[in-house]
Amino acid sequence: MLYYREQGQMFVKGKNMRTRRTHQPLTYDVRLPDEAQADALRLLDASKAVVNAALALLWPYLDEFGEREASPAWKQVGKYMGSPQYHGDRQWRCESEVVGRVLRAQAERKKAFALVLPILSDGFIRPKTEKRPAGKNRPAIKEAITTLQKSLEEDETSFVYFFAHDCFPTTYEELQPLPLLKVSMLTYAGDDGGEKGQAYRLALDLDAGIARFRFRYPDKAGIWHWRKVDTIIPLPDAVKERLTHGDLMAPTLREEQRADGERFVVLDFIVEVEKAELPAWERVERVLGADWGVHALLTATAVDEHSQQVGRPFFLNTGGFDGRQARTRRQIDELKKKVARYEQQRDAFPADDPKRAWYHQRLATYRREIDRCWRKYEHRNRALAHLASNVLVLLCQVHGCSLLSMESLKTLKTTGRGKGVRGRWRNYRNNSTIRGEIWRLLRYKCHLIGLRFHTEHPRGTSHTCPHCGQPAKTYRSPSDRNEAVKWGRWMYCDTCHYNGDRDYCASVNIARLGVAYLEQMKQTSKARSCSITDPRVKPVSYTGAGAVLLLPPTGSHARPNVSGKICYYPGWLGSAFLQSSQRKAVFLRLYG
Ligand SMILES: [Zn+2]
Repeated sequence: MLYYREQGQMFVKGKNMRTRRTHQPLTYDVRLPDEAQADALRLLDASKAVVNAALALLWPYLDEFGEREASPAWKQVGKYMGSPQYHGDRQWRCESEVVGRVLRAQAERKKAFALVLPILSDGFIRPKTEKRPAGKNRPAIKEAITTLQKSLEEDETSFVYFFAHDCFPTTYEELQPLPLLKVSMLTYAGDDGGEKGQAYRLALDLDAGIARFRFRYPDKAGIWHWRKVDTIIPLPDAVKERLTHGDLMAPTLREEQRADGERFVVLDFIVEVEKAELPAWERVERVLGADWGVHALLTATAVDEHSQQVGRPFFLNTGGFDGRQARTRRQIDELKKKVARYEQQRDAFPADDPKRAWYHQRLATYRREIDRCWRKYEHRNRALAHLASNVLVLLCQVHGCSLLSMESLKTLKTTGRGKGVRGRWRNYRNNSTIRGEIWRLLRYKCHLIGLRFHTEHPRGTSHTCPHCGQPAKTYRSPSDRNEAVKWGRWMYCDTCHYNGDRDYCASVNIARLGVAYLEQMKQTSKARSCSITDPRVKPVSYTGAGAVLLLPPTGSHARPNVSGKICYYPGWLGSAFLQSSQRKAVFLRLYG
């Protein structure tokens, strides 16, 4: 049997081979206790210098890292160079593991780039004709970018390049500058493990709920030592829980920065757990379609393989939440203004003036306050993302759906609520952050519980009748049908006169796409998404077909106004509420 490590995971070749297909690493960051912070920061700074120097040296050899070798990343780096600043063998291995992983990831992206480069450059420049000058062929670019984005799995950051530079990069390196580490991190995957490590030691005491961590670090004079005592890290409950089923991988030491410039070190506990097996396609009978709504954050509807809607739709409305977040942002703005004013006043005093001390103190207080607000803001976002993803997973279980058909993340439809243009823009941006987070959480939760996850492109889903499949228009409200409005919340079908809440209709359409996809998988085993106009996408019926659902239009009213049909989610921080057409008692039993 041969042992080797990759991506911080212990692989056992032969028996019980572990792969990304069967196992999933989960990461939990825990802040190191204060007494270890200074030493850990010094260690990370020293590591960062080494990692960045090595990255700069190896960047010209990027292609070599695309040859996926079975050996760990540090070994591959070791073939080219030794440490630019030697701090011990295992320390260098850990540093070069970071270097190797960065380069391998970049090399993968470069390969994807090379794959789509010909498609892009061919259609990119529209040939010069008699009538119009040569220019960019927008539709071709758009399509190419979609392809590129798919191949890079939701990573689109670099590809803003096209629009920023007005030309297409011819090499990957032109697109991607040398990816130096901005904040330092050091994985201990290159070392010999928690018991025998030569750069770190880590021992778990699950009964006491703690981890004992010891590490090598440079002191103030730059001399490297082992820390004299163990650092005791209390383990969060989530980690303890995971460790009872999963295996602890080599941890990563990582730096984080606060808004006020404070730096601190966290230790990432990486627990590898087994993925649940996905159900065979033949056994998938129901699909939950989820749509990023215009009015509700998420709307979900379950549909079975015979195109019958199962149960009632579910709306997750966040009106009050948006308001709260907007208020916190305004509070931060106020505080920032104060900081700027005090800084100005302070700078008016000569450098040795005793009054400066008073200003320093004041400024520190305000900066801490800003930081507290940011943390509150982010905490709320995270909590909402967890809530939303949990609800979707629960709905799948409640309705017996084994396939979650999700509208793709690419389009953000909401304009966002908030005071003024700036407020709306912020809400809009925050919404996209939350969606990204929900997306990420859903993907990993689906893996954990064995739920199939599939993305559907939303084109036309809000303007197609789910009952007859014909194009339909949306209006401001059910009673106001004089003028069709693109973002209107009520959909009305002129062909079959079906009408309903826009977000609800979109979620049914996403489910219809999911059902069509499911049929294809069952019949041909080939993954192919359909467009909403495809005849394979069947109309959906619901008991009492044609009737409008007894739902209040989902709106921004933060108070429950239909007794028994809307309720607060128990345990929630008080800013979001869940809305369902289930009776309150049923609802609480299902989702509480
Ligand atoms: Zn219709």
